[in-house]
Amino acid sequence: MRISVVGSGYVGLVAGACLADSGNAVTCIDTDEQKIRWLEDGYLPIYEPGLEDLVRRNVRQKRLAFSTDYASVAKAQVVFIAVGTPPGDDGSADLRHVLAAAAEIARHLREYTAVVLKSTVPVGTTDQVREAMARLTEAEFDVVSNPEFLKEGAAIDDFQKPDRVVVGTASERARKLLAEIYAPFVRTEKPILFMDPRSAELTKYAANAMLATRISFMNDIALLCERIGADVDQVRKGAGADRRIGYSFLFPGVGYGGSCFPKDVSALIAAGRETGVDLEILKAVEHTNRRQKRALVDKAMRHFAGAIAGKRFAVWGLAFKPKTDDMRESPAVEVIEGLLGKGATIRCHDPVAEAVAEKHFGARISYAETPYDCVEGADALFVVTEWNQFRKPDLTRIRQSMRLPVVFDGRNIFDPEAMREAGFVYYGIGRR
Ligand code: NAD
Repeated sequence: MRISVVGSGYVGLVAGACLADSGNAVTCIDTDEQKIRWLEDGYLPIYEPGLEDLVRRNVRQKRLAFSTDYASVAKAQVVFIAVGTPPGDDGSADLRHVLAAAAEIARHLREYTAVVLKSTVPVGTTDQVREAMARLTEAEFDVVSNPEFLKEGAAIDDFQKPDRVVVGTASERARKLLAEIYAPFVRTEKPILFMDPRSAELTKYAANAMLATRISFMNDIALLCERIGADVDQVRKGAGADRRIGYSFLFPGVGYGGSCFPKDVSALIAAGRETGVDLEILKAVEHTNRRQKRALVDKAMRHFAGAIAGKRFAVWGLAFKPKTDDMRESPAVEVIEGLLGKGATIRCHDPVAEAVAEKHFGARISYAETPYDCVEGADALFVVTEWNQFRKPDLTRIRQSMRLPVVFDGRNIFDPEAMREAGFVYYGIGRR
């Protein structure tokens, strides 16, 4: 099948590469000329495990191409829209890029095409896009809602082996095309759930809001643990063992970040506000998350009795989670800004996010090539992202390199007992 994917970011590039890999002829389009130039030269503008190989292989086998031009849309049977939907000033999703992409697609349509909204968009956007496009083209088309559920860091696996595919359309023609496209990815009896577009649009927000709720809930329980002398790890295991609850997304930490949970929770609250539904649970979820992003700085303030100015701190992890370089809404930003604001000096290490961090912080912080270089002479270590390579360090070496043996572990990756035995003053989240 001929497919165009508009927007070549984390979602569009992964979707485009996976769809090419399953035998389709795919063109990934982006308005960012530098991004397209990099891709044409064989470089990836983002870090995602396995993506570079997948992209190169499919380019070599001539199933995947890149362009700043929408010309490929004219011959495509299916066009995916995977552009960003950042939060607007009032928290609602900003549809500017979606509508610009839809208008450009409409201008290039020739024959019947299924236009598929993969971007996360508020309920009613599928209708809105259809109406906007109908004003610009005589060609036949359907607009379909097909939200994406992939996770950065495991995006290829998630796209190729999804728990489910959600497709919102009333069109039989579009339904057949989407069923054909996704057939290679649902061979293990995972369902393609066909539904109406509004329900499909809301499904994406409901799923992300539920996951964010579990995280904030556990962060509240973690705070309670600290105050009443319980251990959140034991509580998590005990509660998660109940099959109705399960273990996923019950890890306390420094709050959720990334390009999805924060903006999708606030967009859902905004949608509620516009329709007269007060989504109080989600407001509390946001409130807890804001508090949690400050947790490490608050602990440091207490430990150093407010005397943070002039201290040298090491920070492990910059991205919002491991195996990605994405720093959008990363708790690390909050932690680092909080410490800088109190006059500390910061040295960071992240296996892949340094280039992205440099754009954000410039020369306000410095970078170390290894976790060990990072802690050299530090007055405390802050662990913000739970990269696997941070989990089992040589504690003696770290203890000897640091000026003061203090660790604020925002992801509970260390064993508190082992840390104390190694001579550290250790602070976790929700631990005794
Ligand atoms: P991104 O910022 O990485 O990529 C978006 C791309 O769209 C950019 O490269 C940008 O240059 C391009 N673009 C913007 N306007 C354009 C236009 N008019 N024509 C062509 N290209 C244009 O964003 P992302 O993280 O891939 O997210 C895309 C959408 O998918 C969002 O709605 C997001 O909520 C949703 N989503 C993201 C994830 C994730 O993990 N990142 C997961 C599921 C869903």
